[in-house]
Amino acid sequence: ISSVELSQYFLERINRYDGALNSVITLNEDGALLAAQQADQLIASGDAGLLTGIPLLHKDIFCTQGLRTSCGSKMLDNFIAPYSATAVSKLEQAGAVMLGKTNMDEFAMGSSNETSFYSGVKNPWDLETVPGGSSGGSAAAVAARLAPLASGTDTGGSIRQPAAFCGVTGIKPTYGRVSRYGMIAFASSLDQGGAMAKSAEDAAIMLQAMSGFDERDSTSVDRPVDDLLSGLGDSIKGLTVGLPKEFFTDDLDSDIREKVEEAVDTIRSAGALVKEISLPNINLSVPAYYVVAPAECSANLSRFDGVRFGYRCESPKDLEDLYKRSRGEGFGDEVKRRVMIGAYVLSAGYYDAYYKKAQQVRRLIQQDFVEAFKEVDVIASATAPSVAFKSDEKKGDPVSMYLSDIFTIGVNLAGLPGMSVPCGFVENKPVGMQLIGNYFEESRLLNVAHQYQ
Ligand code: GLN
Repeated sequence: ISSVELSQYFLERINRYDGALNSVITLNEDGALLAAQQADQLIASGDAGLLTGIPLLHKDIFCTQGLRTSCGSKMLDNFIAPYSATAVSKLEQAGAVMLGKTNMDEFAMGSSNETSFYSGVKNPWDLETVPGGSSGGSAAAVAARLAPLASGTDTGGSIRQPAAFCGVTGIKPTYGRVSRYGMIAFASSLDQGGAMAKSAEDAAIMLQAMSGFDERDSTSVDRPVDDLLSGLGDSIKGLTVGLPKEFFTDDLDSDIREKVEEAVDTIRSAGALVKEISLPNINLSVPAYYVVAPAECSANLSRFDGVRFGYRCESPKDLEDLYKRSRGEGFGDEVKRRVMIGAYVLSAGYYDAYYKKAQQVRRLIQQDFVEAFKEVDVIASATAPSVAFKSDEKKGDPVSMYLSDIFTIGVNLAGLPGMSVPCGFVENKPVGMQLIGNYFEESRLLNVAHQYQ
């Protein structure tokens, strides 16, 4: 099959099935076919790599030169980025063909995709439920086989939780592994791009191509990219898997617990040792996150002021009116809530009580992981405390929405790599197992996931 045929096949699937899902918000038909033709020429000349001519979708948080980048917001509904994110360019250089951009929670703030300006995404396993978020469009699209690969970003769980809800594999690498250049910032010290795919092997191919040092991102890490593929087939005999006791309590749905325990048993029968561990401060991760993330978001989103780019209100009276109305009309409720919380916790009178305290708690959580990885190679848990919930179920209740990320957020606070791997179904809805690795041990995570799959 040629790349042109492959791209046409997936574009046709998007046109036929995405009406019911709303996972793709911008199509790149002409661009994709042109890129596919070029890929076919490379293939014909014997110059192809693993990704040459392979179609994929990008979460709409990644800037794509010449193609709208909305970040799920009215604020950027008309924004055409003048350059591409490094992760996007790297995949393009590897020969991948961009089919379009996926729906997401506005500025990546959410766990259900319901905060998108372009309205929610449906979960292909059950159209009455949400796909998770914020990379819900990417997860739903891969699950519905509208593309074999899709990019995502993960600030507190946004790759892993939707991967779990949609039954796909998603990996968030170590903080600094994938450049954040051109990835619209939500909470800069937590945001990390990654890959979503059908299998660990596919995710490994995609992640490998996205990774690497970038001098345009000062937090990108200058170390060689590991070979994520050659170790996939290695035996996991003798590997130690830790189960944090704080993640296996009554808060976890018992059917989900059963599925995750079955998956851990499969890993055990492949020769791994399993032991209980403790992350004593992990229960503070949601509160710490909901101080740090809004603080950073309030700073990052101050650039959207109606002046240089993005939404501008009609006939402003003066500069202040321009700022106020452009932001008031351009941002949705959840974004406004976070900007207000962020400005509050950073304000002179409250900085020490909230922001500084949260940073101290963050360090304790990170130390817990450092200690745990002295004892184990990989940590396993459920990715999310429930399966996909019904649309509207948590929409009016931010705290219950925030708690969907209780198992994933600590990983971002510590900057560790984490992934979600499908491990069965509860009431016909997919369940995900989370695997957490030590810094830069993406290849180990992918190896365990591949052996399990
Ligand atoms: N659900 C979390 C939030 O709303 C995480 C989102 C993310 O990882 N981008 O902040």
